[in-house]
Amino acid sequence: MNELIVAKTAGYCFGVTRAVRTACEAAKAHGTVYSLGELIHNSEAVEELRSKGVIPVNSPEEAQGCIVIRSHGVPRAACERIEKLGLECVDATCPYVARIHAIVDENSRESDVLVVGDRNHPEVIGITGFANGEVRVVSSTEEIEALANSDKIFGAKSLIVVAQTTFDMCKWTDLQKNIKKHYTNTKIFDTICRATYDRQHEAEELSKQCDAVIIVGGAHSSNTRKLADICAKHCTALFAENAEQLVSRHKDVIKRLLSSSNDVKIGITAGASTPAYIIKEVHRTMSEIIKDEAVDAEFMAALDQMERVRVYTGQRVKATVVAVNKTEAVVDIGTKHSGYIPAEELTADPSVSPEDAVKVGDVIDCVVTKINDAEGFVYLSKKQVDAQAGMEKIVKAKEENSTVEGTVTAVVKGGVIVTSKDGARVFVPASQSGVPRNGKLEDILKKEVGFKVIEVNEGRGRVVGSIKAAEREANDAVKAKFWEELEVGKKFVGEVKSMESYGVFVDLGGVDGMVHLTELTWNRVKHPKEVVNIGDKLEVTVKSYDPEKKRVSLTAKKPEDNPWTKFMNEFAVGDVIKVQVVSITPFGAFAQIIPGVDGLIHISQIALERVTNVAQVLSVGQIVEAKITEIDEEKSRVSLSIKALLEGGSDDADDDADEAPAEE
Ligand code: SF4
Repeated sequence: MNELIVAKTAGYCFGVTRAVRTACEAAKAHGTVYSLGELIHNSEAVEELRSKGVIPVNSPEEAQGCIVIRSHGVPRAACERIEKLGLECVDATCPYVARIHAIVDENSRESDVLVVGDRNHPEVIGITGFANGEVRVVSSTEEIEALANSDKIFGAKSLIVVAQTTFDMCKWTDLQKNIKKHYTNTKIFDTICRATYDRQHEAEELSKQCDAVIIVGGAHSSNTRKLADICAKHCTALFAENAEQLVSRHKDVIKRLLSSSNDVKIGITAGASTPAYIIKEVHRTMSEIIKDEAVDAEFMAALDQMERVRVYTGQRVKATVVAVNKTEAVVDIGTKHSGYIPAEELTADPSVSPEDAVKVGDVIDCVVTKINDAEGFVYLSKKQVDAQAGMEKIVKAKEENSTVEGTVTAVVKGGVIVTSKDGARVFVPASQSGVPRNGKLEDILKKEVGFKVIEVNEGRGRVVGSIKAAEREANDAVKAKFWEELEVGKKFVGEVKSMESYGVFVDLGGVDGMVHLTELTWNRVKHPKEVVNIGDKLEVTVKSYDPEKKRVSLTAKKPEDNPWTKFMNEFAVGDVIKVQVVSITPFGAFAQIIPGVDGLIHISQIALERVTNVAQVLSVGQIVEAKITEIDEEKSRVSLSIKALLEGGSDDADDDADEAPAEE
């Protein structure tokens, strides 16, 4: 039985679909737009586009208003000309071609550029137009040999090599070997489009199992001609632009084939710019010729499947990101059609760019928001799926009273909007924002925050949250941990938060501890401000604590700085030293021996004669010579005597001297 087999990859590629869609949308908006060159290499499709307001022109000067750059791209100079002419430019350059432009632009200052492709093809002309230095085009081994022999300077330093996206994959592999043979310092970029490779590979396989393959496409289409070349290696290749041309050109060949056997297999493939309706028409015609209605029905179903948008609005689909630009992400949703996610549908956070939201190769969940049956593309939203998933997590978070992480994405009337990491939008009233009454909500814009869900209305998709509640819980947790881990002797470095005449309060990380005046320094001070300021960082050690009363007593005194230790190392009983009177009491005078250690000159040890009023003999600030008469290490007390140094004097103290207190 005769058989017709249609290649799965036949017809519009992603880049062409995208260009057609972009041009049609621009035409809808402007009435008429001008494409720089025919948008696709198919005369019927070009006429169809013309009827929709997409008019091909050969140069920017012929255009008015809005000009569309087709998927092949154009040289940089053409873009500059368009700009100079003041035309609005809609760039539909295929992202795969734009990638080659970027490679050439970035590398061509340091390296010469070799483009493998057809030098007359618009895509190649566009690519060479992005070189900032030397650039050559080759398409065969002979041309490489000739170049290497004739131009010794080209590529001598370093060379980068790119290929036209639709170049023959087998030839490309061979040419790479040849290029490496002649140019040692070479970097080769694999720029052949996967769609092209798949199409060529399938055409080759098809041609191996068929008696003939019909290649449908425009005569000017390079990728279609390459398909014909590939098929011709294994079977009869029948090139035609449409059904009519197929019959007029190849009817005799087909009839001859059909008369030779009852089991003729004929394949159909098509170039990247062949619309599905033309492929369909070719198949219908072929079906009539071979009179095989069964196959026809099967193919029509297959083609219908290719043409049909196999998705519906609201459907959730898995999408693979194939390109990202500033305004949208282009995705493959596993059908024949191109999917587009506008920037505003990628993420709920307006500050995140499409390039930051997704990367090429990401597989993401989306929902179909709009279908264009005529052009075969769909619009999708990732944001909506994220929000839905986010809402499910929000509901769970409310049930579990757990904290949700998010970013403050907007300041609105009465509060802020926080977008959860899963994409749910949550309103946080100003009173729950954690911003003080006199503060500004803008201060937390773009900040990452945790929040508690305090109200959910799933029906209306409304969620109210509280940053304050989450902060409170976090603080409580910090405090609980603090008390759990607290122990005497534990050291902290904390900030002095407030000051009183009796001491200072230090923030130990959510809990304040108190350093009494006498624990601030070993030296005698009258007020904390003599040693610290509010805001200072202070190294402190826990002296004691009371978890019930939530009190922590601290000391800032370090044992190694203890002046008593210094005193004991340097002084002994009997030493005669100069001391300064620091205070007068009814029972004697205290005099500083070294900072932090004072000794008592008892009233009975001041002079030979009896002293009744210390202040009549000594005054604060006075420097006197005295003898160390006693050291009580246990009580850290020192007794001094002036009398012992006077002629006839002794350091025998009066009875009441034993009871006199001393100071450290
Ligand atoms: S063949 Fe590939 S590179 Fe060319 S337009 Fe189509 S998708 Fe883009």
